[in-house]
Amino acid sequence: MQCPKCRTVSLVDGSLSDKFAVKSCQECKGTWIPANEYEGWQARQTYNQTVSDLPPDSLDIQFVKSPFDTKAALCPECQRYLSRAKVNLKTPFYVERCPQCRGIWCDKGEWDILERLGLHTTIEQLFTNEWQTKARERQLWEKERQATADKLGSELAFQVFELAERLANHPNGDFGVAYLMRRVAGNVQPQNPKSER
Ligand SMILES: [Zn+2]
Ligand SMILES: [Zn+2]
Repeated sequence: MQCPKCRTVSLVDGSLSDKFAVKSCQECKGTWIPANEYEGWQARQTYNQTVSDLPPDSLDIQFVKSPFDTKAALCPECQRYLSRAKVNLKTPFYVERCPQCRGIWCDKGEWDILERLGLHTTIEQLFTNEWQTKARERQLWEKERQATADKLGSELAFQVFELAERLANHPNGDFGVAYLMRRVAGNVQPQNPKSER
C-alpha cells in the first residue's frame, strides 16, 4: 500500500495512540486509518457518541501543518481521490477521507489536534455539509467581531458582545435593540410609550 501523498513510499504497520492499527508513512509521517479499524474502534467506545460541537473560538492551538496537507491524494486502498474537510483553526488544515471505502488520512500531527479538539471520535461528521456550513458561519461571525473590536476597542466591543448575547437570549430583546438604534443613531426622537395616535 503506497502513501497517498508521497506516492512512491510504502506504508508500514503502526498503531494510533494504542487505539487501533493504522498504516503510517515514514517519509511524511502521515497516517492512513482503514475504515474497519476506525469504525470498529468507534463501536467499542462506551462514552456517548453525540455529535461533537465546533471547537471553541478561543482555541489557539500552535500547530505547524504538514507541507503535504494541501496536496491532492488518492486512496491507498481503492485509488479514488480523497475528499477533504477543512478544520478551521488559526492554522486551518484538511482531513481527508475516501468517499468509497471511508478510510481516513491524517497528515503529520493532525490526529493529535483532532483529539485535542474532541473531534477524533466522529471524524466522518467533518465531511457533512451541515458541519461545514456551521463552521463557515462561525468564521464570518469571528470576522465581524474582529472588525467591531478594531473600531470600538476591545473593552467596549466586549461589552457590546455581552449585551448582544443577553438581548439575543431575552424574549423581548428586540426592544433593547430598538432603544439602542434610536439612542445611537442620534437625531431620532425617543419613543413615548404612552403617546396616543
Ligand atoms: Zn508519505
Ligand atoms: Zn478508498
